[in-house]
Amino acid sequence: MCDLDDTLVPRRELFAEWASDLARRHGRDEDFVAWLVEADQDGWRPRDELFADLRERLGLDDSVDSLVATYLVQFADTFRQGPGVVDALVDVREQGWRVAVVTNGSLSQLRKIAAAGLEPLVDAVCVSEVEGIRKPDPDIFARAARRCRESLEGAWMIGDSATADMAGARAAGIGCVWLHLGRSWPDLGFEPDHVADSFPDAARTALRTPVRPTARVLLVDGRDRVLLFRGHDPVAPEVRFWFPPGGGIEAGESAEDAARREVREETGLAEVVLGPHIWNRRHVVRFYGVLADLRELWFLARTPSFDVDTSGFTDLERETVPEHRWWTLRELEAAEDVLAPRDLAGLVRRLLEDGPPPSPVTIGV
Ligand SMILES: [Mg+2]
Repeated sequence: MCDLDDTLVPRRELFAEWASDLARRHGRDEDFVAWLVEADQDGWRPRDELFADLRERLGLDDSVDSLVATYLVQFADTFRQGPGVVDALVDVREQGWRVAVVTNGSLSQLRKIAAAGLEPLVDAVCVSEVEGIRKPDPDIFARAARRCRESLEGAWMIGDSATADMAGARAAGIGCVWLHLGRSWPDLGFEPDHVADSFPDAARTALRTPVRPTARVLLVDGRDRVLLFRGHDPVAPEVRFWFPPGGGIEAGESAEDAARREVREETGLAEVVLGPHIWNRRHVVRFYGVLADLRELWFLARTPSFDVDTSGFTDLERETVPEHRWWTLRELEAAEDVLAPRDLAGLVRRLLEDGPPPSPVTIGV
């Protein structure tokens, strides 16, 4: 999934060129160009507002509607690809990925895509005004995936807007790479999975992030308490998080076998009886400076209380997992440390109240 403006095409640059050209035709100077670029708000300002201002400033006779219509066509026709974008798109498709453009805007977005020569390089396009839904609504990503004849499973979103592209990707449960364009990340209560300098850089990051199939076990004891370990990343020790037993599924191993093995190795419980596969979770994480794309399958397992034996820990686990304990729902709800997943308290509450879901539910990070 790719945003269009300032992701695949350098809109800022193109708008400044268009503004300079307009200034030249009307005998205006650089101050006018600076004003227009500012007033444009990177394309987010409604066009009728912008052109009403422009009309007054230039003393034009044409109606706002006709100025906007002319602009949409003229401006779209100036579009070209950003540097390295064609090679990056060819590369990702050669590796078997499908590419969808998901963009907020009018029909003129399609004209931009055509003018920039991107049409043959992508599998699907979703333009908000055509679809009747706009980013960050997660439905627009689901629709783009369907149009590619794919699911959102394992998808990435690359874009420059924190509130539309990154928040939308988060809501859709997909990985996200933010193009910073020299800006710092705003405080939105979450972080993008990765920050990149350019679309080619972002595409390379997404492609080389190893996919790690993972099994997790929500161990619930006779008092409805959940077993969690506390971990930290040695590279960022200030972040404390709690997570359940589990780990990577090895080659040739089933998810269930991996779940049982991890419980044995991490808790000493030799004969855990796995319950149903309840949740799926995708989490792109950086641990020890390495990015990994975790695809977690969560199993429920009921067990009598037992004393956890961590002697089967690996050296890395010994170094990074100093503590474990059984949590009641009330304690989960009052937790100040980060829980994995963040909404573990709500998920456990629903599980205890309603029982396991009839089929696995996709949960957030
Ligand atoms: Mg954009």
